[in-house]
Amino acid sequence: MTILLKVDGLHKTYSHGLGRLVRHKVPPAVHNVSFSIEAGSTFGLVGESGSGKSSTARIVTRLEHADSGSVLLNGEDLLAARGKSLLRVRRQVQMVFQDPFASLDPRWTVEQLVCEGMRIHGIGTRSDRKDRVITLLEQVGLDSSAANRLPHQFSGGQRQRIGIARALAVDPDLLVLDEPVSALDVSIQAQILNLLTDLQKQRGLTYLFISHDLAIVERFCSEVAVMKNGEIVEQAAADELFRNPQHEYTRTLLAAIPIPDPTLRRGNDLALY
Ligand code: ADP
Ligand code: MG
Repeated sequence: MTILLKVDGLHKTYSHGLGRLVRHKVPPAVHNVSFSIEAGSTFGLVGESGSGKSSTARIVTRLEHADSGSVLLNGEDLLAARGKSLLRVRRQVQMVFQDPFASLDPRWTVEQLVCEGMRIHGIGTRSDRKDRVITLLEQVGLDSSAANRLPHQFSGGQRQRIGIARALAVDPDLLVLDEPVSALDVSIQAQILNLLTDLQKQRGLTYLFISHDLAIVERFCSEVAVMKNGEIVEQAAADELFRNPQHEYTRTLLAAIPIPDPTLRRGNDLALY
C-alpha cells in the first residue's frame, strides 16, 4: 500500500477581510483535518454545505493557504513548495470543479482551455499540444470537432468532460473533484462517474472526491471521511461506514438519502439512485 497524499492537522480560519482583529470570533472553516489517500484509490469527503470540504480541497490544490498543518504528496511537503517544486506540485494535483468554466474566459475555445496547463508547464510543441487535445477529447468521450467550439455550446455533462480533459492534459497523479456531478441530471451523473472510473483504471489516477451526496459516495469511493463544521467526525472504509455508521451525524446524513426502491435494501447493486 502506497500513500499518495497525507494530510495532517490542517487548520484554516477565514478572516473575512478584517484581519486578526476578528479572527478569534470566526469559527474555523477547517479544523484539525487529517487523512491519507492510497495511490490509485478514491477517497470521499462528504458533509453538508459549509462543512469545509471545498476549503480543504483548495488547500490541497494550493489555491488557498492553510494556517497550519501539512500536506505531503508522495512524501513531499506540498504546502511548503516554492518555485520549481511548486510548479511540479501544481502539475501533479489537478482540480475539477462543479462548473468547470465559471471562472474562465467564455471566449476561449475548448482547444485553448485544454491546452492552457500544457502551455504553462511547457509540455510539447504547439502541434504536439494540438494533437494531444484531440486524443484527450476522444478519451473523455467527445468528438475531436469539439476542439474549435466554445464551452457554452455544450451541455453540462459535455462541459464536465471538457473540464476532465483539461485536468488530465498535464498528466496529474491526483484529481481533486469538488462536487463534479452535483449540477448534472442523474443519468448524466452516472455517465461522468463511469468515465472517471475508466480513466482511473487506465491511468492509475488517485481521486479526492468531494460530494454532499452520500448515495454517490457510497458507490464511488473506497474510503470516506465525514466532515461537520470544519472537522472530520468519522472516517472508515466506505462499505463499513455505510453498514455501520458510528457517529450520530453520519447516521443523520444517511437517513436523508433517498432510497430508489423501498423493496431493495441499500447497498445492493443499484444503479446510481
Ligand atoms: P463546503 O465546501 O463543505 O460547502 P466551504 O469550505 O466552502 O464548505 O466553507 C466552509 C466555511 O468557510 C463556510 O462557513 C464558508 O462560509 C466559509 N468560507 C468558505 N470560503 C470562504 C472565503 N473565501 N472567505 C470567507 N469564508 C469562506
Ligand atoms: Mg463546496
